[in-house]
Amino acid sequence: MAAAFGTVFMPEMAITWFDGSNWSVPEMVSSDSISLHPGAHVLHYSSTCFEGLKAFRHADGSVNIFRMDRNIARLSQSSRLLGLPALDDASVARMIKDTVARFADEVPAPPGSLYIRPTHFGTEPAIGKAAVPSVTSCFYVLVSPVGDYFAGGDKALRLLLEDQGMRCAPHMGMIKSGGNYASALQPIMRARDSVQADQVLFCPGGDVQETGAANFLLIDGNEIITKALDESFLHGVTRESILTLAQDMGMQVSEREITVDELLQRAAKPGCEAALSGTAAVLAPVGTLIYQARNMP
Ligand SMILES: *Cc1c(COP(=O)(O)O)cnc(C)c1O
Repeated sequence: MAAAFGTVFMPEMAITWFDGSNWSVPEMVSSDSISLHPGAHVLHYSSTCFEGLKAFRHADGSVNIFRMDRNIARLSQSSRLLGLPALDDASVARMIKDTVARFADEVPAPPGSLYIRPTHFGTEPAIGKAAVPSVTSCFYVLVSPVGDYFAGGDKALRLLLEDQGMRCAPHMGMIKSGGNYASALQPIMRARDSVQADQVLFCPGGDVQETGAANFLLIDGNEIITKALDESFLHGVTRESILTLAQDMGMQVSEREITVDELLQRAAKPGCEAALSGTAAVLAPVGTLIYQARNMP
């Protein structure tokens, strides 16, 4: 049995600290631990954001990072929306490339990859700053070799449609920030316990959005339907890549609102499939939608 996704780390990572005026020169340090003041802003007010991207080994042996520019742009946006110090995109790119290059020999062969977790958070020791951004911060690039996400059996997922609650506050949806996952945890734990769902598909007020960490796609014959971008959900790089490929293949791409009613109607027809998209899950097939205690294959 392979180690669980994201539990094995390479021993070093690139790191830089912002002191309020300048970023320190990035260094390669041990990834065993970092030192933080117990009053650090992130530990109290969740001033944190991260990214998830992958480096792949190609047939010619070279190691290539998938669409790094998109993740760096999203990290900058997350940092800005959280009031964290601005990152320098070129420096972030260099730190990601340096960390991947450092462990290039250990990038697993496909379907494995090196999962890259850039992380940025507020470090200012100031527990009175509940409504004020952290002046100082830390940014590092942690990497983790991952195997086949589906090694445990490529079984179709059970999704609970949740139309009462929401994953996170609507204005936080497009920020890849720790607090959003904490916010989604209760409904996900409840769905696991009560109906053995693998994931919750959040559909606040009947508007089909996304799951806890992946986007939702409905594939109905030649049409692929997914929610249009707004600030309420995370704009996945995988989602964007799949929509581009689908368009190139001649499929009709519909980015628009889809209601729970329409989803259930379409899903009941033959030739209609659903999937979750994300860097970790890639494209994971949905087998069952559960709504108001009813199972719909
Ligand atoms: C990371 C994430 C996704 C998928 O984004 P990718 O860029 O495709 O990996 C979707 N939804 C949420 C909530 C996420 O955290």
